[in-house]
Amino acid sequence: MRRPRSSEAFKEYSYVLKFRNSEKIVRKIEGNLGRVALIFPNSYAIASGSLAWSWVQTLLTERGLNVQRFFYESWFARFYSMEDQIPLDEFPVWLFTLQFENDLINVADILVKKGIPLSVFERQPYHPIIIFGGPVMLFNHELVDEIADFVFVGDLECSIDEFSEALRFDEKDDIIRHLLNINQICSRKYGKLKFSNCIGNLSPVPVAHFITPFSPYKNKLLVEIGRGCIRRCAFCVTGYTKKPVKFASLDEVINVFEKHKGYEYGLISATITDYPYLEGLLDYLEAQNIKFSVSSMRADKINKRLLMLLKSTDHHSFTIAPEGISQKMRDIMLKDLTTEQIVKTLKLGREVGFKHVKFYYIIGLEEEDESDYAEFFDFLETVVDMGYQEVVISVNPLVPKPFTPFADRKMVEKREYEEKTKFIRRNLPKKVKADFESYKLSRIQYELSNLKGPQTVVYLRQIIKTEK
Ligand code: SF4
Repeated sequence: MRRPRSSEAFKEYSYVLKFRNSEKIVRKIEGNLGRVALIFPNSYAIASGSLAWSWVQTLLTERGLNVQRFFYESWFARFYSMEDQIPLDEFPVWLFTLQFENDLINVADILVKKGIPLSVFERQPYHPIIIFGGPVMLFNHELVDEIADFVFVGDLECSIDEFSEALRFDEKDDIIRHLLNINQICSRKYGKLKFSNCIGNLSPVPVAHFITPFSPYKNKLLVEIGRGCIRRCAFCVTGYTKKPVKFASLDEVINVFEKHKGYEYGLISATITDYPYLEGLLDYLEAQNIKFSVSSMRADKINKRLLMLLKSTDHHSFTIAPEGISQKMRDIMLKDLTTEQIVKTLKLGREVGFKHVKFYYIIGLEEEDESDYAEFFDFLETVVDMGYQEVVISVNPLVPKPFTPFADRKMVEKREYEEKTKFIRRNLPKKVKADFESYKLSRIQYELSNLKGPQTVVYLRQIIKTEK
């Protein structure tokens, strides 16, 4: 650990250290081979709420590697590691985990600040090896193939031994040679265009190695119990790319709880209510009086016991994602969820004492008309009439994604989206608050998810220029 001299550098160093000191280490992991920067290109709060940041580090460190975590803030210049506050420049291998397309803008910012050309074809041998992984790679690895030396497609668990073996070497050429032998790796730069995808089987069960109050899960230990989704909502790329779906066995999940007694948990799965052993899991959590939060649940499968247990974990609010503003729109979105099912769940919510509820909606599909909005406002009135004191709706424009049935749709134009949001605001029942997703960020997500190779570099250069 080195204390920086300039005041800007010290501010950045102290900021990183503040988060580092907030972490309570649940399992100590140590490795001393190589030097790998694991970069989550978003804020500490987002990074620490993603199990990937912790789990990838665990997998590699358990195999002897020295892996240090980094996160992103737009004002950072040096980028210090979480573990030893070492500047990013001193790492020969940079591993980016890309959970959201828009994070690519932050990646570009890091590269520019560090004087690294965005195009891999313009870099020099002394530049670090840049590898991309994460869920975005599953449906568009070509998005970054002009930026990355290597793209890792699918889950790390499947090739973890080969991957960590490759990163142990000191010489760049040795690392490159070994990476090129891995099936899940592709690289346009090195001419390896064939690769095979793989989804890990959640054995061992992924568990975070630290907790922090700054995570959205607030001091809860993250445990992944399901990966992928059995549903096929027409707007959602997870339902079409993360197959086959994998669930952790109940015995192994319980072993995790037994090993880490005294913690509260954040249970991670695309939809916790589709976990096939949910009742057994709830039996255990209830009997042991373990508090927990869930990442997401489906309104058609929520039961009273689940809501009661969530309520007992100091949850003031619960969340439902009807997505469609009417039954017609939900059917078009293949949401497979009826108004009756949503109302039934809301009644259960009131029965167990919830006073706050949040809903997620997607708007901007060409089929929407006045009757859908009328149904939407009626539904919200019903929710208020049920006695909920606070009703929040989060409204997003549809972002059509490749590999989904909506892939060929056009995204709603800005003006139309703004008219719709104004219309919603004007007609919302009192007590209902609305958050509208930024059109600009959604548009960038749409454009990025359809880019490939050199197009991405041109696009990112343009964005960086406009933002300056
Ligand atoms: S929106 Fe949710 S339920 Fe639907 S496919 Fe995606 S993850 Fe599954």
